[in-house]
Amino acid sequence: MPSLDLLKQLVEIASDKKAVSSGGQVEYGVACWLRDYVQKNLRGFVVEEQKIEEGRMNLFVHDNKPTSLLFLCHMDTVEAGSGWTTSASGEQKGLRFYGRGSADMKCGAVAILAALHQAQEIKKTGIAVLFYADEEYDSVGIKKFVAEYEKKLSPKLIVCMEPTNGKLRRGCRGIVELRYILRGKTGHAARASSGINAFDGLNQGINSLNELLKTIGDPYLGHPTLNVATVRCGAIQQKRPDDFIVFGSAGNIIPDYCEVVLEVRTVPGLDSEKIKKVFHEGLKKTGVVVETVETRLELGSFATPNEQLKLVEDIFYEVVGGDMYQDIEQGGYSDVQMLASLWQTPTVIWGAKGDNIHGADEYVDVSSFEKLETCLKKLVDRWEES
Ligand SMILES: [Zn+2]
Repeated sequence: MPSLDLLKQLVEIASDKKAVSSGGQVEYGVACWLRDYVQKNLRGFVVEEQKIEEGRMNLFVHDNKPTSLLFLCHMDTVEAGSGWTTSASGEQKGLRFYGRGSADMKCGAVAILAALHQAQEIKKTGIAVLFYADEEYDSVGIKKFVAEYEKKLSPKLIVCMEPTNGKLRRGCRGIVELRYILRGKTGHAARASSGINAFDGLNQGINSLNELLKTIGDPYLGHPTLNVATVRCGAIQQKRPDDFIVFGSAGNIIPDYCEVVLEVRTVPGLDSEKIKKVFHEGLKKTGVVVETVETRLELGSFATPNEQLKLVEDIFYEVVGGDMYQDIEQGGYSDVQMLASLWQTPTVIWGAKGDNIHGADEYVDVSSFEKLETCLKKLVDRWEES
């Protein structure tokens, strides 16, 4: 069946958090479709279902040989939302195929199926795929996979089909999110030494942190960056029963309380411990202390040196051409980082051209999608198993 027809079928199956299909929910309909497709058309492969909760599963598709080339593709999408001028459940217009999930990342699933057909035809072994659940929501799918397969696999290359607008991406920055409550001491504004200004403490902490970030960098990922996401600061007047702090409004009181959420996009060599240590050193200069700190998110980074992606680069150059690597700031965190770091495996992210991902009128460029398929088939052709 032509690939565009397969894509149409996959996009038609809703796989957002409100989707319900017989026996399951969210991406379950897509998982069943993929399982049935492989079992019917790709008999050299076996499908292992990994249940992640009632009515949801990952699919690990392999050929019973040690996995050396692993493809990765999530099956869920965000909700369609509003504002579409095309059909969210799939519609071709000229050289674009519109629909929720067309680019992110059901075209990747179809390209992988083409690669599996190729492997079957030329009897290439060691090729496997993880089709996984819950990427757009809480990453439960990838975490379950890591927990069960960590010791069972050690692939030589991972190719993740997240959208990259037709280019390659060989890394992603990590994310550390910290939530603080900082405490100073109230005093009279006319006599700065009578109090400890919680806001000054925050500023010092931020300065120290920014100094640190400038000294850390990765040739591909660049420098880490800090986002001060929210700040609530003032002199405590009252703590409500629900723990909400009410501030006074007078300008002559030194603020003694500050709540702040910091988010740092990290690169290799930087983690939450280092960030906290340097931020606290900055605070200390002012006498402000940490009342509580909570690490709400800690996701690592990865960067594969391009020398390890020679084969992928050659194929890209032959089939696609032009600028090879996507600007790192065009893409956020990717779940594939967990696998790249786990096995220290060279990893590339490679999706077709398209736009409006997570928005209305998401589409994939049909010729770019076809090129992606060609590339994956060539990759299988030239893959050396050992
Ligand atoms: Zn995605």
